[in-house]
Amino acid sequence: MSERIYFDWNATAPLREQAAAAMRAALGLTGNASSVHAEGRAARRLVEDARAAVAALTGAEAKNVTFTSGATEANMLALTPALETGGRREPRDQLLVSAIEHPSVRSGGRFPAEMVEEVPVTAAGVVDLAGLAYRLEKAERPLVSVMLANNETGVIQPIAEIAEIVHRANGVLHVDAVQGPGRIDCTIDALGADLLSLSSHKLGGPQGAGALIRRGDIHIAEPLLKGGGQERSQRAGTENVAAIAGFGAACTVAAAARQSDATHMGKLRAALEAGIKAATPAAVIFGETAPRLPNTTLFSVPGMKAETAVISFDFNGIAVSSGAACSSGKVTASHVLAAMGVEPQLARGAVRVSLGWSSTMSEVERFLETWIMLVGSLVKERRGIAA
Ligand code: PLP
Repeated sequence: MSERIYFDWNATAPLREQAAAAMRAALGLTGNASSVHAEGRAARRLVEDARAAVAALTGAEAKNVTFTSGATEANMLALTPALETGGRREPRDQLLVSAIEHPSVRSGGRFPAEMVEEVPVTAAGVVDLAGLAYRLEKAERPLVSVMLANNETGVIQPIAEIAEIVHRANGVLHVDAVQGPGRIDCTIDALGADLLSLSSHKLGGPQGAGALIRRGDIHIAEPLLKGGGQERSQRAGTENVAAIAGFGAACTVAAAARQSDATHMGKLRAALEAGIKAATPAAVIFGETAPRLPNTTLFSVPGMKAETAVISFDFNGIAVSSGAACSSGKVTASHVLAAMGVEPQLARGAVRVSLGWSSTMSEVERFLETWIMLVGSLVKERRGIAA
């Protein structure tokens, strides 16, 4: 039996060796990072080293990094009307979110539903800048949330341009940068973001850790978790030292390896897409004309059902995911593809392949062999797929 192939890195990445080592070391400690004694100070040191690593990855100041339980919590923390900017408490009067955001952003965070509005995207999956500017005209102090790169299509958003538009309108910009680290630049100043969310498990750290990074003059006046004064009173609760240490170690590797990893993944993805198109010329690659992450492909073949493809790949030892969200046993079409105007039948066939730093060309070749076999058997069964 050949080894399994993991091509679902956008869902979660494997733990980096360095992260596992940092976690093992942290698990050997006993102190609470808030205690003043030597044991507490040792735990504190690990948390602060990790904070420095997150800050280095994002070009932020360490004191502006708040650890959370993940990006979902970081997004909830950021998306509140109660933001202080430049020491002034100026409640945000509207939340604008792009139509392709992760559900944790699309939920509107802590804004009442009537204050939340969606910004459309183009057919290529890029935020419609004119649509954004138009909606900004109506708000006095908006908060805008746009992701750095979409988790389904990999399409990279023009964040620096968006930041200019938002700031001109007296707005604050939150960027869910979860899919960026280790693949593209995530420095807060280059992006022009005011708030940035990260998730540890997407970049080689453990699940259950993340961070919200603020620009210096922005403060969350209403934290999500209140209690002890941890995390500069931005997030109460005893820090998960081992997870934070692993997160920090993974950030350091992601920053150092980004360029070589991105080049490597880009070569594999090019071979993968060329192979898919050669085997199934009717295949559509979503967001293909826009700038995309080097590791992500979302594709569909007319007539194909994503569930069939994902189950067949799994049966053949390959983990990929469908572009459709499955909740309570009901498969619904992806909101991302719906926002891009993709016809529901085609969207139902969307298969996402996401690669990572340890993916190999022989894995891509095995994926393509499996794809050809799968398409062949479906055509034989006359299921009507347009191969
Ligand atoms: N934002 C994006 C773009 C994601 O892909 C994910 C994970 O699926 C999240 C947020 C949520 O991250 P976490 O699992 O750390 O809560």
